[in-house]
Amino acid sequence: MVNYSLALAFPGDFLGYSEEFVAGEGTVEQDGSIFAVALGEKQVDDSGRRVSIKAAKFVRPLAKGDIVYGKIQDLYDTVALIEFQPLNAPSTFPAAESRNAFLRISEITSGYVEKLEDYMRIGDYVRAQVLEVKSLGIYLTMKAPDLGVVKAICSYCRGGMDLKGKDFVCSRCGSIEQRKLPHA
Ligand SMILES: [Zn+2]
Repeated sequence: MVNYSLALAFPGDFLGYSEEFVAGEGTVEQDGSIFAVALGEKQVDDSGRRVSIKAAKFVRPLAKGDIVYGKIQDLYDTVALIEFQPLNAPSTFPAAESRNAFLRISEITSGYVEKLEDYMRIGDYVRAQVLEVKSLGIYLTMKAPDLGVVKAICSYCRGGMDLKGKDFVCSRCGSIEQRKLPHA
């Protein structure tokens, strides 16, 4: 498993309000709130003002069963390309031969999936699980109930979206979209 401290923050986690904090490395400010954009440890500097995310260190190569966080880079007909977002140099990321992973359409849910776009969009952050580590790449699954999109990006305006009930609502343009949600 990933070796991390107790203060681990996940992409999309709320870290504080911008009246209180300055958005540092590994974070993003959105409409007055600061969110993590990388998996890592939440840190506030000595001034007590700057909040940042120090990337979690991976202590061994990824293996089947590991939980990972990544960003949807591209969507094809039957597979999604997911990029891991380690903040530090690739040396802290032992699966360095490939920072990309693949999610097949058959690994989204246990039911039939017609279109990947109904479950995730480019730019979203997902929580997924390693299914297989092959020479060609890492294959992920999102079937388990605790896996899914943890942060959604609006497909119309690229704004951040807030989860309201079972829908994501764009904080900028008001667009309403659905994703495969983790509900652990
Ligand atoms: Zn929007």
